[in-house]
Amino acid sequence: MPPMIALIALNLPVAQPFDYLAGDLSAAHIGCRVRVPFGQKERIGIVVGMREASDRPLTQLKAVTALLDEQTLLPNDMLALLRFCSDYYHYPLGPTLFAALPGQLRKGKEAAVRTHLQLKLTPLGVQQGAKLPMRAKAQRALYARLCKGPLAETAPEVTAHARNLLKTWLIAAWIETAPLDILDALPKLPLSSAPVLNFAQQQAVEQVQTALGRYETFLLHGVTGSGKTEVYLHLAQQVIAQGGQVLLLVPEIHLTPQLTEQFSQRFGAELIATLHSGLGEAQRLRHWLAAQNGTAKIVLGTRLALFTPMPALQLIVVDEEHDSGFHQQEGLRYAARDMAVVRAQRAHIPIVLGSATPSLESWHNALTGRYQRITLTQRATSITMPTVRLIDSRANKPIEGLTTTLDAALQQNLARGQQSLVFANRRGYAPSLYCRDCGWAAGCPRCSAKLVLHLREKSLRCHHCGYQQAMVLACPNCEGKDLHPGGVATQRLEQHLCHRFPTARILRVDRDSTQGETRWLTMQQAIRNGEIDILIGTQLLSKGHDFPGLSLVGIIGADDALYSTDFRATERLFAQLMQVGGRAGRAQWPGEVLIQTRFPDHPLYQALQQHNYAEYAEILLDERNTARLPPYFHLAALRADAPALIDALVFLQTAQQHAPQQEGVTLFDPTPDAMPRKANRDRALLLVQSAHRGLLQHYLSLWMPALYALRTKNIRWHLDVDPQQV
Ligand code: ADP
Ligand code: ZN
Ligand code: ZN
Repeated sequence: MPPMIALIALNLPVAQPFDYLAGDLSAAHIGCRVRVPFGQKERIGIVVGMREASDRPLTQLKAVTALLDEQTLLPNDMLALLRFCSDYYHYPLGPTLFAALPGQLRKGKEAAVRTHLQLKLTPLGVQQGAKLPMRAKAQRALYARLCKGPLAETAPEVTAHARNLLKTWLIAAWIETAPLDILDALPKLPLSSAPVLNFAQQQAVEQVQTALGRYETFLLHGVTGSGKTEVYLHLAQQVIAQGGQVLLLVPEIHLTPQLTEQFSQRFGAELIATLHSGLGEAQRLRHWLAAQNGTAKIVLGTRLALFTPMPALQLIVVDEEHDSGFHQQEGLRYAARDMAVVRAQRAHIPIVLGSATPSLESWHNALTGRYQRITLTQRATSITMPTVRLIDSRANKPIEGLTTTLDAALQQNLARGQQSLVFANRRGYAPSLYCRDCGWAAGCPRCSAKLVLHLREKSLRCHHCGYQQAMVLACPNCEGKDLHPGGVATQRLEQHLCHRFPTARILRVDRDSTQGETRWLTMQQAIRNGEIDILIGTQLLSKGHDFPGLSLVGIIGADDALYSTDFRATERLFAQLMQVGGRAGRAQWPGEVLIQTRFPDHPLYQALQQHNYAEYAEILLDERNTARLPPYFHLAALRADAPALIDALVFLQTAQQHAPQQEGVTLFDPTPDAMPRKANRDRALLLVQSAHRGLLQHYLSLWMPALYALRTKNIRWHLDVDPQQV
């Protein structure tokens, strides 16, 4: 009988898995990790298939060196999903599979968590320990320690001597062992009971509930504060009661602590596994395994959590489904929201996509009936939606970013003792530094972008590549001294507001001021406790946070996005402003939103004023249809970058020449990127467009082998399917 061949996926950018002699491996080991010889060294691989023959001579094949897992890590359903993902994004299978594993498993670490035992006194131990003689110092110390609470056997205070004592006490039944929580010992909070749902929420829950056990995508369109989270909690309750698991995805790591807390309070922390890039490697493995072996009933995480195996998965929830945070922008460039829908479909389970401002793709799917729409039109509490006022900044010229109207509103709110937020989506002091004499502006030497002035740090920084230099005091072009900051960013606003309202407690929240997870958590606490009067912030502040004391939101500099070349810019702006505005008036006081704009008649602002998402979505969808853009047309971008633009363009031209011809698919000419230079590399792209996703996919799979065969000296290239930005 010929030897069996194992197909092994390695973490290498090659399209096909490698053939190895299977030895003792069988089909039961598909999804397990192995160690294999590769070139001069050994590599970790994943068994993805078995077959009886190889295209290569048997004598050239090497044997698998070691099997690393007794039980499959990636069960068939996950392998199939990842294979789909690899095919759809035209990204090699090996790296796709490895992207789904926690770092420690990628490196070959054992897929198990050593359970640490914890030791605690029995009633007998409590009794007997109290009678220990004075002279037995070590024993008394250990006893005193145990009286304070359970002791982990691996704790640093357990010395060799103590360990011997503990052994004796264990035999004497003075102490007993209990496994340490598999998940991290979160503070045990008293479980809180669920509030009574309002009618709309109840209907939403019932609608999804009837779909448990079959595939259906629900688009939960609920205004900010309509209680979507409560809907998720009730659904999770149902699923857990049936012994199932729930996967809940959020677009960014900052949103996980608040949700984890809410779910922990309802269900107990031990049922929840969080997964995001902020976890330590060991913790991440522990949580991943808890999801994979079914101990964790709720898996709550960012996009990377999507590929976690969950044996009893019954429901997926994607919160803030419109958010670009679900798109991975490097390596495997995938949209977690879209792949979540695929996962639900393959697993025959329902999925809920929640948002106050759904993506146009999802909205379109709801309009055409592919998704079921569920609407929550009212805020859950008795609070009404904030009123939105537009301030015409042509008539009312801003000083240091603020019009007199916004200034007065801030003052009034301060006098009332209520919290305000000024939203400016630029961090730093000013977006540029320019010369009034000759018009020179500080630019990044490595990118086609202006340098942002950070006055506090006395530096000029590029927000695209990280370049920074000391602030210049004279114009390098004309040697003039009349340098000026152009525009207003968060630091400048902070400085101005501190000057305007010297008694106010002012806090700036942006990526610079929140470095480090705990810092932002502490800030949030301070905001909720009412220790802040005026908040200045970027979009960090806009998402999902519930700040009960906030009643006024001022928005400045929003107009910039109206001119963006990116076709999704207005959709994003609308979502963002709706989100920020939604922070206002979530508890005692009604909220007010003031938007400074030079275009108060723009349909975007008009729709915002009326809280009318549907109307604006219709306008945008019309535009997209006319411009042959998503969701009506499907796109893929072949992107290339090189030290010189000409090389990138020539590469794309060659790619164009090797492209297949296919009716219904349009291939455009190569063009420089909207931001042509980044980090010393020139960038260009080639767009492919089709009205049919299937046609586009077919076209791309015909094209890929030719692309891999192209000469790529100095060139880096990748394919971006369903690109976010064009
Ligand atoms: P969303 O996620 O839709 O913006 P949240 O889930 O944050 O809204 O809910 C907004 C507020 O309303 C929260 O403070 C929440 O506790 C409260 N809430 C939600 N549902 C109910 C309910 N049925 N009864 C009372 N309060 C509720
Ligand atoms: Zn000058
Ligand atoms: Zn730069």
